[in-house]
Amino acid sequence: MNSKLETRNSKPREASMRVAVYYNNRDVRLEETAVPRIGPGELLIRTRASGICGSDLMEWYRIKKAPLVLGHEITGEVAEAG
Ligand SMILES: [Zn+2]
Repeated sequence: MNSKLETRNSKPREASMRVAVYYNNRDVRLEETAVPRIGPGELLIRTRASGICGSDLMEWYRIKKAPLVLGHEITGEVAEAG
């Protein structure tokens, strides 16, 4: 997968993806962000489903790292291999 998309006027633009960004337990927003670029030995996974684990619900633990994208238990397909 190429991380650049061609537009109608042939100007490349960054590929983007939607993510659920955690700000606090009452504020999770759908936002657009750039598709990560991978390096040698890494995989880019197109996420199909993601679980929310018990530690994701502990606001005192997560709030220090906010804003962040939750979900470390995923399933998906390999989109690119580095
Ligand atoms: Zn977990």
